[in-house]
Amino acid sequence: MNHQKIIIVGAGMIGLSMALGLRQQGHQVDVIERGSRPEYGQEPELRVSALAHHSRDLLQQLGVWQQLPSQRLGPYTAMDVWDHDSFGRIEFAANEVNADDLGAIVENRVLEQVLWDAALQAGVTIHAGEAVAEHNVTEQQVSIRLVNGQKFYGDYLIAADGNRSTIRERARLPLSFWDYQQTGIVAVINTELPHQGIARQVFLPSGPIAWLPLNNPHQVSLVWSADTELAEQLQALDDKAFMQRLQAASDSCLGQLQLASQRAGFPLRMQYAQRWLQQRLMVIGDAAHSIHPLAGQGANLGFGDVIDLLQVFANQPSHKSLRAWERQRKAAAVTMITAMEAFKHGFGSANPLLKLARGVGFQVANNTKPLKRMLVKAALGE
Ligand SMILES: Cc1cc2nc3c(=O)[nH]c(=O)nc-3n(C[C@H](O)[C@H](O)[C@H](O)COP(=O)(O)OP(=O)(O)OC[C@H]3O[C@@H](n4cnc5c(N)ncnc54)[C@H](O)[C@@H]3O)c2cc1C
Repeated sequence: MNHQKIIIVGAGMIGLSMALGLRQQGHQVDVIERGSRPEYGQEPELRVSALAHHSRDLLQQLGVWQQLPSQRLGPYTAMDVWDHDSFGRIEFAANEVNADDLGAIVENRVLEQVLWDAALQAGVTIHAGEAVAEHNVTEQQVSIRLVNGQKFYGDYLIAADGNRSTIRERARLPLSFWDYQQTGIVAVINTELPHQGIARQVFLPSGPIAWLPLNNPHQVSLVWSADTELAEQLQALDDKAFMQRLQAASDSCLGQLQLASQRAGFPLRMQYAQRWLQQRLMVIGDAAHSIHPLAGQGANLGFGDVIDLLQVFANQPSHKSLRAWERQRKAAAVTMITAMEAFKHGFGSANPLLKLARGVGFQVANNTKPLKRMLVKAALGE
């Protein structure tokens, strides 16, 4: 097999795992990252991801999962999802699909730091603190020029530069998007009752609130998705008033709650690039798609992009095999986006008939084994 020279822009968890996988296949890899090496602190980080089995399998194969500090991983063995405004509730556990767990909550920065170091050690060259000024892609090669004037040439260019990807914009790859008009407020919360490794989510008409179990049995990561206006009000509240609102919305599922960090908000927007391949340029991860965090599948989709693209590069890549990769991954992303929309619209409505329907739907799903198994598989990203 000919080894390729590959340039990756963006050293988030998706760009770094792509870089490491390609390097392990023997390719020469340069990563351009405008930020610096991620470093995590003593306290749990605000941004976390619930990683599904396929993402963990990839990270295990890359030799990275084994290096994650176990005290910073929160495996979850069950999910409890309910509707604040109806009688609907679904609970499912890993043993219903003969699994030990449904996945694990990982702090983004912890994973990024471990990936960064593993990539360097494997021989990936990371150019930190550098931004791309321009890129050029032809049928034969790719080139980029950094703002500092340095030039790189390669066989392929991979854009993993997040949802505001400048590479995607400069390549004029058309984007489908809509603004959810919601903000995701994240924070670390101490809980009176132990979380028991259960990922909890309550649906309010203004958006879902998730409590994701961290390694400490009395600590969860909060993702409160709320309509923009409400989110602005919540953000403006002092900590005490904010926690009173959260407590009221929590249906006391974890007893008394206590804020254990600062709060941060992220505007939520669905978008996907209509093309992920342009000659020798590919877009992956959030650069290609970003979705509502309610099912915790954004990064998992990105890891799916990496798994399938690594398979292409394990053999001699061709336009045909890259096109097949693009088709396959776009289908996976669109399926997920459609499911998220259905969920969000179904739960975003205060219409009494819809409320009744979702309550009944929840109960039916909870009591129907094959349907429930399907839901568990969907939650596993399978
Ligand atoms: C509130 C919230 C909760 C979420 N929860 C989950 C969850 O539970 N499970 C899950 O699977 N997903 C979740 N997600 C989604 C997940 O966080 C993202 O899908 C994931 O972080 C995307 O990773 P990435 O590497 O593609 O992009 P990013 O993490 O955005 O990384 C892009 C990198 O590119 C760099 N970069 C950008 N532009 C340039 C440039 N011009 N030049 C050089 N470098 C550049 C950036 O500095 C950055 O390091 C959540 C998202 C949100 C907002």
